[in-house]
Amino acid sequence: MKQEGMPPKKPIIFYYVIVLAVLLLVNMLVLPYLNTQRVNEVDYSTFLDMLQNGIIKQVQVQGDTINYLAEMNGAQALFKTGRMEDPDLIHRLQSAGVEFGKAIPETVSPIIEILISWVLPLVIIFGVGQLLMRQLTKNMGGAGAMSFGKSNAKVYVAAQTGKSFADVAGEEEAKQALKEIVDFLHDPEKYKEIGAKLPKGALLVGPPGTGKTLLAQAVAGEAHVPFFSISGSEFVEMFVGMGAARVRDLFKQAAEKAPCIVFIDEIDAIGKKRDGASGLGGNDEREQTLNQLLTEMDGFDGSKGVVILAATNRPESLDQALLRPGRFDRRVPVELPDLQGREAILKVHAKDVKMSDQVNFRAIALATSGTSGAELANIINEGALLAVKEGRKVVEQRDLEEAIETVLAGYQRKGAVISPQEKRVISYHEIGHALVAARQKASAPVHKITIIPRTSGALGYTMQVDEDEHYLMTREELLNKITTLTAGRAAEELIFQQITSGASNDIEQATKLARTMITRLGMSEEFGMTALAVVQNQYLGGDTSLACSESTATRIDNAVMEIISEAHAKALDILKANEGKLHELAAFLLEKETITGEEFMEILNREPAALPEAQPAQDSAAE
Ligand code: ADP
Ligand code: MG
Ligand code: ZN
Repeated sequence: MKQEGMPPKKPIIFYYVIVLAVLLLVNMLVLPYLNTQRVNEVDYSTFLDMLQNGIIKQVQVQGDTINYLAEMNGAQALFKTGRMEDPDLIHRLQSAGVEFGKAIPETVSPIIEILISWVLPLVIIFGVGQLLMRQLTKNMGGAGAMSFGKSNAKVYVAAQTGKSFADVAGEEEAKQALKEIVDFLHDPEKYKEIGAKLPKGALLVGPPGTGKTLLAQAVAGEAHVPFFSISGSEFVEMFVGMGAARVRDLFKQAAEKAPCIVFIDEIDAIGKKRDGASGLGGNDEREQTLNQLLTEMDGFDGSKGVVILAATNRPESLDQALLRPGRFDRRVPVELPDLQGREAILKVHAKDVKMSDQVNFRAIALATSGTSGAELANIINEGALLAVKEGRKVVEQRDLEEAIETVLAGYQRKGAVISPQEKRVISYHEIGHALVAARQKASAPVHKITIIPRTSGALGYTMQVDEDEHYLMTREELLNKITTLTAGRAAEELIFQQITSGASNDIEQATKLARTMITRLGMSEEFGMTALAVVQNQYLGGDTSLACSESTATRIDNAVMEIISEAHAKALDILKANEGKLHELAAFLLEKETITGEEFMEILNREPAALPEAQPAQDSAAE
């Protein structure tokens, strides 16, 4: 039976090895050294020589032997020699000024010998053992050998996190919900009077990087009450049963410190659904921990003023029991920021950075639809790094523009060697996207086109930025998007009569979009408003799984292919009708490598274009 939680064997073996090594070392090296140090046997003539040289300090005659102490090379050493019939000895000793007749203190007493050979190794072993033990407990997150099973929640006091709601931009609904909790902890009487019970726990749910942890820290900063913070993964222990003990201890501490807040970050690490299939011990430990958590939450008297916050980005995987009323009955969604929110987050993080007055945060926010707060914070920082790299004192708009690409698409690969022919293909591919986007009515304007390769693997890309944030997309807009995605490949076909691997990402996106339209958005005539797929984890990529029969799945595949091939044909038509502009723009991009949306539109709308519909792009829908 494999127990997840057993301690690894390795350290124990190491421990024995170290003990043995220490014992051997002491007995083989230290003791013989001491013994040879202790008494040096010499013959009588050497003794006389030494006496004459005046290095002997003290002599003791003992039966048939003479022990004496001599100073050699600045160090005292003990010698021993046989006693000879020498009546002159006393005289010799006297004239050499040697002390004699007194017992010589042995340099190494038997007690010291025992200490060295037995006690010292034990002390060393004990010390090493302690060290190992500490290491072991540290690995398990404990504080010391005696504190197994203690929760290692960090206790934050208000001043320590240093965060407040002002640090969290946007997320107004989440802040509102949490403010209520803070208010309750400040003034529980107000709530008691009216008979209102506050939820025992609130669960922050949302995609990664949206500020869930930050919000909890802000609550700690605002509440002025003790704040216990622990991450779900820290509960999952080395030893079986330890996780449950930790939970118990955490809640005991919290009860003592009430009013207070307990924050369990990444609760999905312990709160995953119990599937019952873990009979072979695989998940026993986690289940015990979860059960303990449930028990503790039930046993809590809500009026005491202990509020439990938790955060997760996979709420769908949580055990239903956790979400039952009386536990985490309040859900606080922490969503990806909207346009307003993104602008606010950028501004919060720009506060500590020297920014040029010309910086337009709204433009940056517009270009970063779908990014999280963490990514936006990163964009500001990357922008600042770029400004430093170029030796400027303040961050400018172009730094932030470049930073968006760095964060979203990776760093520029300056050293990448791309052959001139490949570059030409990439130029036509990107202009293909941009041209088709511009020639369709319901399509976001082109913001930037580049053929500078990125570390993420992109060889170039076309960035479209909407003038406004959209919450709804019409069927037409979605189809136009798919058409735009197919246009890169279409341009390659039209100009080079060959296709390359450069369209793989476009194909993936187009397929996903077409599939979503059919299976989830009810946008196909064939299936109508039937949900044919379910979202697996809405906050982490939003993978779907089909929820339909096999024959329906086949029909879905066919419908997807139909949408895409129609879009592809349409893109090809648009490009054929605009071939002159395609050449002109591709040549320009090839020369410049990066062009802005304005430059693009300027060339597109410029006169000598042998085209039938040389109107402003927005009006010429090519349906
Ligand atoms: P989560 O816990 O949701 O994964 P975090 O709270 O760890 O995300 O956020 C990571 C970082 O992103 C924060 O430290 C902060 O710098 C930044 N951030 C995220 N959301 C916001 C926001 N709404 N306002 C300001 N900064 C934010
Ligand atoms: Mg977090
Ligand atoms: Zn493409």
